[in-house]
Amino acid sequence: MYMTNKYAGQQVLVMGYALTGKSVVNYLRKQNAKITLNDRGDLSKDPSVNLLLKSGIRVVDGGHPLQLLEEIDWIVKNPGIPYNLEIIQEAIRRNIPIYTDVELAYRESLAPIIGITGSNGKTTTTCLTHHLLQDAWKGKVELAGNVGVAAIEVAQKVSEDDLIVMELSSFQLMGIETFHPQIAVFTNIYSAHLDYHGTREEYIAAKLNLVKQMTKEDYLVYNADQVELETWLEDCSAIKVPFSRQKIVTSGAYIKGQSFYYQDQEVAPIQTFKLPGEHNLENALAALAVAKIKGVSNETIRERLSSFKGIRHRIQPLGTINGIAFYNDSKATNTVATITALKSFAQEIVYIGGGLDRGNDFADLIPYLKNIKAAFLYGESKEKMQIDFTTAGVENIFLLKNLDQASQEAINYAREGQVVLFSPACASWDQFDNFEIRGDRFIDQVESFRRRVEEGEFNE
Ligand code: ADP
Repeated sequence: MYMTNKYAGQQVLVMGYALTGKSVVNYLRKQNAKITLNDRGDLSKDPSVNLLLKSGIRVVDGGHPLQLLEEIDWIVKNPGIPYNLEIIQEAIRRNIPIYTDVELAYRESLAPIIGITGSNGKTTTTCLTHHLLQDAWKGKVELAGNVGVAAIEVAQKVSEDDLIVMELSSFQLMGIETFHPQIAVFTNIYSAHLDYHGTREEYIAAKLNLVKQMTKEDYLVYNADQVELETWLEDCSAIKVPFSRQKIVTSGAYIKGQSFYYQDQEVAPIQTFKLPGEHNLENALAALAVAKIKGVSNETIRERLSSFKGIRHRIQPLGTINGIAFYNDSKATNTVATITALKSFAQEIVYIGGGLDRGNDFADLIPYLKNIKAAFLYGESKEKMQIDFTTAGVENIFLLKNLDQASQEAINYAREGQVVLFSPACASWDQFDNFEIRGDRFIDQVESFRRRVEEGEFNE
């Protein structure tokens, strides 16, 4: 039965009023907590805040005064709010617990949680794991967490038979205490977000919070190609299920010949999985290991690997038209992401990129441009990109005004067997509101080409 009054009378400070903050406030109201809502921004224009004020909730906006901490029992903090804020430092000094929403979600959820973290590949692995388990599992399988679905919303509607597949960032993992996943997944750990965590040790410690409560009844799926990761996870008492792209790990998931294996079974040919790039093989291995732990049949895994369409805007396959394969990687707003995309293809690439000029150059891309047959560059950065693409020896470079023109020219240029890759290496803001709208625009161009081909426009 759904419980209310769980936190009756407790004084809770909710910091940050965005997606998760709103869900947390709604939830804590049902639990009859005494809420103080705080945000550094101006909340006065938000109609939902007026309703909160009418219902007697204290709202303090425009900053984080230390007086907020008076009589507070605990804090729920938006994961993005940094720990070096004065108020957070003071709360730590006063031993006021600081949680993120996922801690509350864990306490509320009747369903076991599959918690997925790592420096890269979290969203892909989370969505693929969800896709492999959905329908194959006896109850509902819900996505939650950093994928953009507030965990506390999901936690309130699941039963014991269901499963939650939750993407967890290191920021969220800093604020957990009793959180206890049934399966934890570590895709990899690289040095990242050091601006927030201060040191690499702190970042790793945040990630390792995920396994603290795990027991020998639980499962830990981790990337065995990262030696350090294996060492860090040594003390965790959960059953260890390694995955590896490079070696045979018979206690977990691995690649042998042209197939994915789990323990001693061949699960699926690699080619059933359509996402390009070696990094995605790792994500597939991690997801497949979880599916096997939860008893999904090899046949179902094969079907579902092949029907996985990828994540919108992340090296997203858009299908093959006239023998040309199209990929939308609008999420690539910097050179690091574009390098991953470029490394994913052995075929000749017809490249489309460009966008906001942040004052940087594109020299990092030079070693990865060997397969570029032609580059269609647009937006503020096009001339700067042209310089580095020329240095790399790319012979066919075309400068266009905008993405529509660049896409049309690239589509006309591409030939059977080639890949048309939109991986801009720049932020979108010179011509678009965000990378999603930009990616949708590219998809529109490709879909229009598909329709024209289907209508026979290109037949003799
Ligand atoms: P996250 O949620 O951790 O940011 P995503 O699944 O959204 O990861 O992938 C974002 C980008 O990270 C991808 O476009 C790709 O460039 C890179 N990436 C994805 N998976 C991996 C991986 N397993 N190892 C290294 N890089 C990866």
